[in-house]
Amino acid sequence: MAGRDDSTHRAATRLVTSGRSGDFASDVVNPPVWRASTHLYPDCAALRARKSDNRDGQFFYGRRGSPTQWALSEALTALEPGAAGTVLYPSGLAALVGALLTVLRSGDVLLVADNAYDPTRSAATGLLKDLGIEHRFFDPLDHEAFAGAFCDRTRAVMLEVPGSLTMEVCDIPALAAIARERGAVSLIDNTWATALGFPALEHGCDIAITALTKHVGGHSDVMMGAASAGERWYRRLRLGAQRLGHVVSPDDAALVLRGLRTMGVRLERQTATALAIAEWLDARSEVAHVLSPLLPGAPGHDIWQRDFTGGCGLFSFVLRGGDDAARCRLVDRLELFGIGYSWGGFESLALPFDVEPVRSAMPWPKPGWSEADRHGIRLSIGLEDPADLIADLDRGFAALNEG
Ligand SMILES: *Cc1c(COP(=O)(O)O)cnc(C)c1O
Repeated sequence: MAGRDDSTHRAATRLVTSGRSGDFASDVVNPPVWRASTHLYPDCAALRARKSDNRDGQFFYGRRGSPTQWALSEALTALEPGAAGTVLYPSGLAALVGALLTVLRSGDVLLVADNAYDPTRSAATGLLKDLGIEHRFFDPLDHEAFAGAFCDRTRAVMLEVPGSLTMEVCDIPALAAIARERGAVSLIDNTWATALGFPALEHGCDIAITALTKHVGGHSDVMMGAASAGERWYRRLRLGAQRLGHVVSPDDAALVLRGLRTMGVRLERQTATALAIAEWLDARSEVAHVLSPLLPGAPGHDIWQRDFTGGCGLFSFVLRGGDDAARCRLVDRLELFGIGYSWGGFESLALPFDVEPVRSAMPWPKPGWSEADRHGIRLSIGLEDPADLIADLDRGFAALNEG
């Protein structure tokens, strides 16, 4: 493995080869799970020397990781063109908050996309506010309003694409360019596409954050997050995570690394099934709007085609009419779709959602929609046979219509 240059290979190949170059993985396909809090030194001089030599890939003490975690970091870095390194966090939210705390200081202003993941909003309105960091929410589809939202204390912008639950696709290269012109750092929650479908640093972002819990783990059995960045921010992210005491277990790192190897084929299959189901839903009279950039002609489809090399199984739809009881009858009747949070696993899930009164900069229902069409259902499409999933949804609609 030593000496292999991952950068010459395409992404699907890098999913297989990356993170396997370390000395510790040369004789096996997967790195061993190194469970260690304590590393031993030959003498006092070696112990002292290592303390000040805070580099990647060196034993020090358990909190700086072991070859199992390093292999996963290295693999994720190889998948993200432009990244100098990747820091692992115990959850996706820990990665988001850890990155924000690395970038922001008291007195700074943070701009947050109005359709960002809800716990990201809560970090801005809670923890960061308590630390003296201000925030403003913005509509990522309105570039003029975004450009006008900056002040001389605006330090960072938190982006996400597609928007959480409502799936708007914004123009990340344009937004990141505006942020850069104004001297602000762009962070992106890239959990939906991952670096495989949307190389975020190449599209102008400074820090790319992924909830590995979702597609990368892929099996609904582990929680983890990651932040990748170029040289400028990687060192600071790493130091920030060390100061906050973030560490992931080697067993969990091995599970995520195992998930990563098959992520490409899982996403391809889930994208194809999601598109088939989105088209089926689009033709149903009970459905007012299908919210998926995969659908030709849908809002954001053109930008998705321009910027992304792949999709995934996560999208939403909005029922015609404001009957929450009917929505619950539909969801409750589903047998193959579990009812639950999270997404990106091998199994399908359904989640009823309402975005009001959470959003403050983007209207809901959307402009041009009927006021009554506001009740959403988010689907995470798994690896089941598409025909079985459609039959399950068909039974759900029968239950909706029974009322
Ligand atoms: C789930 C999720 C996260 C958080 O990940 P956890 O591992 O659950 O903390 C962050 N961003 C998005 C878009 C998510 O869906």
